Amino acid sequence: MQHDAEQDARNDGSGGDEQGGRWFGDHADQYVDGAWRPSGDTGSIEVLNPATERVIATVPAGGAADVDAAVGAARRAARAWGATTREERLALLTRLRDGIAGAQDEITATVVAELGAPVGFAAAVHAGLPLTVASSYLALLAEHPFEERIGNSLVLAEPAGVVAAITPWNYPLHQIVAKVVPALAAGCPVVLKPAEDTPLVARLFARLVHEAGFPAGVFNLVTGTGAVAGAALAAHRDVDVVSFTGSTAVGRAVAETAGRGLKRVALELGGKSANVVLPGADLTRAVNVNVANVFANSGQTCSAWTRLLVHRDHYEEAVSIAAKAAEKYVPGDPADARTRIGPVVNAKQQARVRSYLEGAITEGARVVAGGPEPIADLPVGFYVRPTVLADVTPDMTVAQEEVFGPVVVVLPYRDEDHAAELANGTEYGLAGGVWAADTDTAAAFARRLDTGQVDLNGGRFNPLAPFGGYKSSGLGRELGRHGLEEFLQYKSLQY
Ligand code: NAD
Repeated sequence: MQHDAEQDARNDGSGGDEQGGRWFGDHADQYVDGAWRPSGDTGSIEVLNPATERVIATVPAGGAADVDAAVGAARRAARAWGATTREERLALLTRLRDGIAGAQDEITATVVAELGAPVGFAAAVHAGLPLTVASSYLALLAEHPFEERIGNSLVLAEPAGVVAAITPWNYPLHQIVAKVVPALAAGCPVVLKPAEDTPLVARLFARLVHEAGFPAGVFNLVTGTGAVAGAALAAHRDVDVVSFTGSTAVGRAVAETAGRGLKRVALELGGKSANVVLPGADLTRAVNVNVANVFANSGQTCSAWTRLLVHRDHYEEAVSIAAKAAEKYVPGDPADARTRIGPVVNAKQQARVRSYLEGAITEGARVVAGGPEPIADLPVGFYVRPTVLADVTPDMTVAQEEVFGPVVVVLPYRDEDHAAELANGTEYGLAGGVWAADTDTAAAFARRLDTGQVDLNGGRFNPLAPFGGYKSSGLGRELGRHGLEEFLQYKSLQY
C-alpha cells in the first residue's frame, strides 16, 4: 500500500463523490502526535458504502502499538495543554469550529458515503449539528467559572487528564464533537477511537484539528476494531477518563475495564424510548412526528421514540395514522436529494432488523406498514422496510430490546398510571416524548418518567441541555455545561 503522509494530511477528507472523492482509497496512517504517521499495527478495515455495498476505502486496524503511541503523545501533551489559558483554548477551538463550518459539504458527502444517510438529512444533522455543538462550547468556555470561592476555600476546576473517546457510527461526527470539543475545552488531551463503519468522517475531523493548529499530542486518532483498539484504549494505564458512546453490552464491558483502573467513565448507551400521547393531545401531529422521529437516520438513533403509547380509545386511529405516515418513507439512494430514508449501515444491522421483525410476527404483532421482506426494487444496498407494528404487548422482544432500525411499535394503555408503567417498563431510560392538551399536563406526566430527556408536545432539541440516560442507558451527561464538567476534576485550596 502506497503511503504518503504529507499528501494524506493535505487531502484526507476532501472530495465529493465515490469516483472523484480524494479521501476514498487506501489509508495506512493514524493521526498521532500532531502528524499522520504510518500505523504500527498490521491489518486494515474495509469501509463500505451501505447503498452500493462497495468498498470505498480502507483504514488501518490499529492495535496496541498505535494505541500506545497515541496515549503516550497525549500524556506528554497533558501538562502543557492543561496549563493553557481559557483564551488560548478558545482561539484554537474557534478555528476548529470555523473549519467544521467550512467543511460542511465534505462532511455531508462523507457521511452519505459511509453511513448511507440521505443527503438532506446529512447536511442538516450530520454536518449541521456538530457545528451547533462546537459553537455552543465556545460560548460555554468563554464564561465557565473554572475557579469558585466556597467559604474559606478556593475551588479550582482542573482538567481530568487523558481522555479516551470511543464513538459509534450512527451520528459519527456529532458523537466525536460532543466528546472531543468539551474535553479540549476543559484542557484534556484526547485519543479518539471511532467506529469501524465510519472512520472517514473521523479522519476528516482530524484534518480539521490539524489545520486549526492544536499542539502535537493534544488530539490523536486511532482507527481500529472495538475488540482490539477500543479495548486496548479503555484499559490503557495512562488514560484517566473513558468517554464511551455505543451499545449497553459494550458499555458494561468498558465500564468494567475502566473500573479496574479506577478511571472515570461516561457512558452514553442504548434506548427504547416511549412517546406517550395523552388524551386531549393532537393525535395526528403526535403520531406523524413520532414516525418521522423513528425513521430519521433509518431508525439508527439512540434516543428514537421507538414505542408509541396511545390510550386504548384512540389506538386504532393512531395505528392507521402511523401506517399512512410510514407510506411516505420510500427507501432509496441516499445521494438523491428526494430520498427521505436510506439503507441501514451494514449487512449485520439489516439482518438484525429483519430478524426482530420476524420474531415480532411470530410473537403475534400485526404488521401495518413495512415488514421483514426484502425490497424487490433495491436488490443492492442494506435496505429495510420502514415498519409499523400494532398489537404489540409490553413483554414482546420488540417492545423491550433496541432494534436500531426504522421500526415503530404501537402499544395501548388504559389510563395514565398504566401509561407511566409501560413507559418505564424497559431496562432503558434515555429519552421520550409526552403529548397533552397543554404543556403543564405534559410536564406533570414527564416528571413520572425514568428517563434523561423528555420533549413536550414536540419541544425542539436543545444543544445546551444535558443529554444522557437513566438506568441501562448510561452514566454521566453530554452536551452543555454538564458535558464540560465530565472532563473536569476539582481541587480545593483552604486559606
Ligand atoms: P458498539 O457498542 O458496538 O460500538 C461503539 C464503539 O465501541 C465503537 O467504536 C466500537 O468499535 C467500540 N467497541 C466495541 N467493542 C469494544 C470493546 N470491547 N472495548 C472498547 N470499545 C469497543 O455500538 P454501535 O453498534 O457502534 O452503536 C450503536 C449503539 O450505540 C446503539 O446501542 C445506540 O443506542 C448507542 N448509541 C447511544 C447514544 C447515546 O448517546 N446514548 C448515541 C448513539 C448511539
